[in-house]
Amino acid sequence: MLAEIDVASLSEAEASALCQSCGACCGYSADWPRFSLESDEALARIPEAMVSASRGGMRCENDRCTALVGEIGVAAACGIYADRPDVCRACMPGDEECLVARRKFGL
Ligand code: SF4
Ligand code: SF4
Repeated sequence: MLAEIDVASLSEAEASALCQSCGACCGYSADWPRFSLESDEALARIPEAMVSASRGGMRCENDRCTALVGEIGVAAACGIYADRPDVCRACMPGDEECLVARRKFGL
């Protein structure tokens, strides 16, 4: 179980590999991929079709971010990785939101 992993001991490569086989945080809540302190320039790089109607975050379908590619828990990737919102950059394996998201998918 992830909760038993000592996150501090994960190398950057190990954390990256874990996320690439997961993607749970990108698909557990439509409230998750919200915008915060991004600049207008950064937001402008996100494809319009992937921005929510309220313009407050990423557009989600059934709690899943429309930028997420792949299958949660198997192989997942962010389709706009270089331009993803700050909240996505901040989420780290083993942190609270990560654990909540993974639990939802039984990971
Ligand atoms: S839920 Fe955690 S392990 Fe899964 S992709 Fe997000 S940060 Fe990575
Ligand atoms: S923008 Fe990318 S990293 Fe952020 S929730 Fe969507 S798929 Fe995940």
